[in-house]
Amino acid sequence: MTAVQSVLVVGGGAAGCATAILLAEAGVAVDLVEIKPDVATTGSGITLQGNALRALRDLGVLDGVLAHGYAFDVLGLRTPDGSVLAEIPDSRTGGDDLPATVGMPRPQLARLLLDRAVDVGTKVRLATTVTSVSPDGDVAFSDGSSGHYDLVVGADGVRSRVRELAGIPAAVDPVGMGIWRVFTSRPASIERTDLTYGGAAYIAGYCPTGADSIYAYLVEDAQDRTGLSPDEQLATLRDLAGQYGGPWVDIRERMTDAARINYTHFESHVVEAPWHRGRVVIAGDAAHSCPPTLAQGCAQALEDAVLLADELLGADDLETALAAYVDRRLPRARTVVDGSVQLARWLLTHEPPPQAGGTADVPGLMGRTAALLTQRP
Ligand SMILES: Cc1cc2nc3c(=O)[nH]c(=O)nc-3n(C[C@H](O)[C@H](O)[C@H](O)COP(=O)(O)OP(=O)(O)OC[C@H]3O[C@@H](n4cnc5c(N)ncnc54)[C@H](O)[C@@H]3O)c2cc1C
Repeated sequence: MTAVQSVLVVGGGAAGCATAILLAEAGVAVDLVEIKPDVATTGSGITLQGNALRALRDLGVLDGVLAHGYAFDVLGLRTPDGSVLAEIPDSRTGGDDLPATVGMPRPQLARLLLDRAVDVGTKVRLATTVTSVSPDGDVAFSDGSSGHYDLVVGADGVRSRVRELAGIPAAVDPVGMGIWRVFTSRPASIERTDLTYGGAAYIAGYCPTGADSIYAYLVEDAQDRTGLSPDEQLATLRDLAGQYGGPWVDIRERMTDAARINYTHFESHVVEAPWHRGRVVIAGDAAHSCPPTLAQGCAQALEDAVLLADELLGADDLETALAAYVDRRLPRARTVVDGSVQLARWLLTHEPPPQAGGTADVPGLMGRTAALLTQRP
């Protein structure tokens, strides 16, 4: 017996597709609605840590991820002029049989997950959303249709409409940083992520996302960049990138397509328990979000899906399953969000490291987080 026979998933991102895959594979009737006409059209690259890869293996898409992405096991630290400060073996948080990290283009990950959801029987409707959701599982859709489900999963991102319709309170806070991201061709010299803390930006970094591609990012004080035209965005980014040496010289030369640039602000939140109201539950960024300073948001969304499905498939009673889900997920998600925000704050306040009399123990924080994430949730 399972706690649910029919589920509606709202949102076709990582959390939504992963939940749909695991439930549909187990024989649950799953509908998924996604507000966008396609999930795989926009986006830069994404860094998938080992614990994300472990979940992607559970979902049956690891081969596709490894085929399309770029795996590496070492993290580099550089000074702004490009000199290598350190080469650190990255923690294999997914286990020794998985790479420490894989970079890949976001649209490709989105396509892999949605295709897998369809393959295992999920009925997907794109360009569709919910207009009402009741705690009893009654739903009205934007196309005029309606339905009843044993469970509605709000996997519709940080500004979740399902969360709002269910009356689950959330306070999404700005972190105070903005990030420029650009997707370009890969200089042959870039075979891993290198980070530079400091210089003209708080963080300058890049991640290979395939044989031919990388995404690069520069983190600054949050600013209103909406007034800039695409060409002005490109010029601003090139100016900032021009203040870094080493591989950045090559990356900057490849920054020629304004359409491949994205600017967004860092935000964070954690929804307090419970994460459900009646037959409505939230997962992924709808439940918690973090700045990408530990590159864990997608990984945490996938872990939500794995544990939500585990509880739903292992229990007879919905209330018990949903309570167990939040009990298992909330402490770990909170630790990751708090750690990600702490890293950002240390940078914002220029907090010195312990050896200089401060508290900014970045390696310590990263090490503790990696040790936690290495344990299966
Ligand atoms: C700048 C930045 C960089 C990041 N880098 C990384 C990284 O390198 N590694 C990492 O692990 N994480 C990273 N993250 C975090 C990661 O992107 C998110 O945590 C992850 O995408 C969350 O997945 P999700 O499925 O919960 O939400 P989303 O990815 O937001 O997906 C939600 C889906 O729901 C759809 N939707 C929204 N509203 C509705 C509605 N009303 N009806 C139907 N559908 C709806 C959306 O269109 C979307 O497809 C980063 C985040 C930011 C902001």
